[in-house]
Amino acid sequence: MSLRLLVLPHDTLADPRVAMVPEVAARLTKQGWQVQIPAGAGVAAGFPDSAYKAIGATTLTAKELAKTSAEVALTFTLPVTLPCAGAAVVIGLGTNATKGASTTMALQKLPRTTRAQALDVLSSQANLGGYAAALAVAHHLPRLMPALSTAAGSTKPAKVLVLGVGVAGLQAIATARRLGAAVSAFDIRPEVAEQIKSLGAKVIEVDGPTAEGKGGYAGTMDAAGLKTLQEKLLSFVAASDGVITTAQVPGKAAPQLVSAAAVAAMQPGSVIVDMAAASGGNVVGTKAGEVVTTPEGLTLVGETNWPGTLAQTASRFWAQNMANLLALMVRDGQLVLDDELVKAMVL
Ligand code: NAD
Repeated sequence: MSLRLLVLPHDTLADPRVAMVPEVAARLTKQGWQVQIPAGAGVAAGFPDSAYKAIGATTLTAKELAKTSAEVALTFTLPVTLPCAGAAVVIGLGTNATKGASTTMALQKLPRTTRAQALDVLSSQANLGGYAAALAVAHHLPRLMPALSTAAGSTKPAKVLVLGVGVAGLQAIATARRLGAAVSAFDIRPEVAEQIKSLGAKVIEVDGPTAEGKGGYAGTMDAAGLKTLQEKLLSFVAASDGVITTAQVPGKAAPQLVSAAAVAAMQPGSVIVDMAAASGGNVVGTKAGEVVTTPEGLTLVGETNWPGTLAQTASRFWAQNMANLLALMVRDGQLVLDDELVKAMVL
């Protein structure tokens, strides 16, 4: 087989991850892929050019990149302007097809089924995001997370509330629990209650508004329902030292779950991490890409690339997801795009 896999360049200052790592590239090389990667593309994630060269991948200068072509090109965000002579299939997250490529595959269109799990970048990255968000709460809180008894005094566990319990929320709960916090959680999908309990957290039940979506996702709520929900959540927010919000509705603005009144009701020193900041935010007052400290002494964290804060692990997981996907796309040394999961992603 002689298929070429090209990692497309991106601004590694904005996103330090890389879409293919040496360890995974080594396995692809053994399967017959020729892996090409722009020089320096992995450095910010902890993978120097020498590590790629050592496993038989080719690192490309800008000039070499402009001339090269590949059967498959990997990127993070679509669309991209192809920086090379050509790529048959471009794979990334986004809704717009890449000009000049015969096929664009959009990773967020992957069905959320058991079989698809090994290729699911939304899950692999959200999982890491949830971990990083819980650490951010611990980092910004001016108090201890666990209960501790010392000769100098004792503390009670910090109270952490997680709103939205999908992949990121579950990992945020698990991580905050491991750090010793007392955790409670809410999701509009009541079916996650058992998962919340199994992680040792308390389920917050709010009767009233619901938002059924498709394919296991939540749907959008109307304005009145959202307002009721905000009011019902207010006392739980106010009683928390740390709040992590992860609520998303695919393709829509994130639901605003934490009102200005709820933020105002929190104790000084409390921390909110709004993981939905990039898609409009779950919290009034968080700013995308910023850490805001309010005059009342609250910290509102609006980081928009949580997996990027764990670039090395995030890149490894992403690359493995891509290797699992590529395995479905090759038969007898040829690219074949007839698998159900592959077809679901073609734009
Ligand atoms: P997501 O990022 O779309 O949303 C995060 C969470 O926000 C979801 O749990 C959602 O219910 C919640 N939410 C939305 N609106 C809300 C509101 N108004 N109030 C409170 N919470 C709200 O979700 P995700 O992490 O991508 O997971 C989506 C679904 O896919 C889940 O059911 C998950 O279990 C499932 N899933 C399945 C697989 C698989 O089997 N391959 C993989 C990953 C996820």
